[in-house]
Amino acid sequence: MAESILVTRPSIPSLDEYIDEIRDLWETRWLTNMGAKHQALESQLADYLGTENVVLFVNGHMALELALQAMNLNGEVITTPYTFASTTHAIVRNGLTPVFCDIDPMTFTIDPAKIERLITDRTCAILPVHVYGNICDVEEIARIARKYDLKVIYDAAHAFGETYNGKGIGCFGDASMFSFHSTKVYNTIEGGCVCHNNAALGEALQDLKNFGIHGYEEVYGVGANAKMNEFCAAMGLCNLRHIDEEIHQRGLRFERYYERFEGIEGLQLKQPQPGVKYNYSYFPLVIEESLYGSSRNEIQDVLALHDINARKYFYPITSAFDCFHRRFDVLKTPVALHVSKRVLTLPLYADLPMDRVDQICDLILSCRK
Ligand SMILES: *Cc1c(COP(=O)(O)O)cnc(C)c1O
Repeated sequence: MAESILVTRPSIPSLDEYIDEIRDLWETRWLTNMGAKHQALESQLADYLGTENVVLFVNGHMALELALQAMNLNGEVITTPYTFASTTHAIVRNGLTPVFCDIDPMTFTIDPAKIERLITDRTCAILPVHVYGNICDVEEIARIARKYDLKVIYDAAHAFGETYNGKGIGCFGDASMFSFHSTKVYNTIEGGCVCHNNAALGEALQDLKNFGIHGYEEVYGVGANAKMNEFCAAMGLCNLRHIDEEIHQRGLRFERYYERFEGIEGLQLKQPQPGVKYNYSYFPLVIEESLYGSSRNEIQDVLALHDINARKYFYPITSAFDCFHRRFDVLKTPVALHVSKRVLTLPLYADLPMDRVDQICDLILSCRK
């Protein structure tokens, strides 16, 4: 029986490499609270991501939630419902109101042509998502933000290491959040960061991740405990040494899927974007049943019979979540709704054997009618 396949599998360094990295923690006994590993990782990540400043967090969600808090926002935030729960929850948990904008049918990122009609006198920010590592229209978003004096915070959880016209993707907007969760391209077990180029924002972020404590005795903000510990930072230092090879290996598997599915009626593939260096984070496949002969759910079931776990990223759209009790009208984002009912994200990770990629392709192609 072949091994079961999950949608992703984290890359980790050799045990020896990790042990070497954490060995000095046994001498220093400095296990958390912005220790040497934490500081080293912040500076190495700033280099790798090509951004001025990196503030590390315990996970990507807290990074995003506290970035919104640090900006002292009030009112409405324009975002998309075609994302992971975290994006919308970060808005709502800050007492802000999400206003859902529809997505572009090719990139699944916020459709910039639909943003301006959603702006009211209560709008304070735009929170777009570089979903699957597809880059949002950063220029048009910047133009709109300038015109209406809005903050822009990117959810860049899927975009680690990407560049646009040679510039690190974390350089756009007022801040960008990256996730280092184990399921992402680059992991620190759990972790995340905010990239920014604003000293005051950076100081607020540093305080908020440590209960809002500034120095020893002043408490400026009602912060949280969202610090990355030294063991996670050590994992990050190790994984960063191998990130280019990780992305290369993912790319080989991505390209294989792409070759096998290209040009087949009823299958929509993620398209390369001009000027973007992609990180091969995901392989989303949008299946149009009327053209392909099988539905997304049928294909997911066929794969599951072979112990292959493809996932419906993203279904349901966040505006349809039970926790929001029909507060949002999902029909206002028809493209997001349409894609969410047809998308299947295929297994993709650096050591996924190529013959299993072919097996997945064979099974999906056998569903074609
Ligand atoms: C993973 C993810 C997050 C949250 O990151 P965590 O590190 O898991 O907290 C936020 N947004 C998107 C789009 C994600 O995929």
